[in-house]
Amino acid sequence: AKSCGKNQVATYTVGVDKVVRERAVLASDIRTALFKDELELYYQPLVSGADGRLSGVEALLRWHHPQRGLVPPIEFIQLAEETGAIRDIGAWVLRTAALQVSTWRRELPGCADLELSVNLSPLQLGEELVPEVLGALSAAGLAPGLLTLEVTESSLLADLESARTHLGALRSAGCRVAIDDFGTGYSSLSYLSRLPADQVKIDRSFIRDLDQYSGAVALVKGIIDMAAALGLDVLAEGVEEMTQQVILGELGCPRYQGYLFSRPIPVGEFGAFVARSAGA
Ligand code: C2E
Ligand code: CA
Ligand code: CA
Ligand code: CA
Repeated sequence: AKSCGKNQVATYTVGVDKVVRERAVLASDIRTALFKDELELYYQPLVSGADGRLSGVEALLRWHHPQRGLVPPIEFIQLAEETGAIRDIGAWVLRTAALQVSTWRRELPGCADLELSVNLSPLQLGEELVPEVLGALSAAGLAPGLLTLEVTESSLLADLESARTHLGALRSAGCRVAIDDFGTGYSSLSYLSRLPADQVKIDRSFIRDLDQYSGAVALVKGIIDMAAALGLDVLAEGVEEMTQQVILGELGCPRYQGYLFSRPIPVGEFGAFVARSAGA
């Protein structure tokens, strides 16, 4: 029994080593992913109103690893933050997404008013943010009012003064700021009124339970009413079921995002999605 125990310990240690080693490999690979052209953006539709009209897109990173294939952001964003690679990647996301949406606005029928949302890492909330964002917009010929910058509560609170300064400058220029994953952080309601924000995105963990528990409805109603009282726009994330959209509509939530409408779409398939939606 003793040797068996030893064996298990050994196996476990090998397992941990392997995980640590793979993480180190991925961490080193993510540093070169950008200039090796392994990164791609998918775009997930954001829709408005009961008819689910396409109003914008959220740009979402994908990494095509030469050995591992498609690696989801949950497996590499944190590594990209730890290695600092997210700074260059984030700047690339802004430039690429702005150009793409500008192209779609010009070329795709029904997309003349299409807007763009981009995720920001806390590491991007420094000095270079303002020139990076405004540079990307002007290179693409996109008005600042068409861009929403998505940040989480925790990344705002990590350095609130810096975030307030730089996001404040961008808001003065016309950009909007959304609090991503809203409800999963720790800030109190009074805190929300002090954050530099224009929109809240209700986290999908609340939406998932909407048609299951009346408590979830009360929670989401609380968020929507509070957002309205503070003059904030509100969007529900992770809407997968028609019943969820119906409940959200009754609660006064005007904007949605989720698999019910579409998964994130690669650039080459977006035109077909738009054509299909227009035909529907
Ligand atoms: P997020 O910003 O909360 O993005 C929404 C995530 O929810 C996306 O996952 C999207 O595919 C997923 N999603 C959308 N609708 C549904 C639904 O109806 N059901 C379910 N189950 N999921 C849905 P994704 O693309 O894997 O991205 C994960 C996270 O990675 C993002 O969460 C964001 O925090 C981060 N991320 C993605 N792209 C970027 C980027 O360019 N920069 C930074 N800093 N972070 C990014
Ligand atoms: Ca987001
Ligand atoms: Ca989110
Ligand atoms: Ca999230």
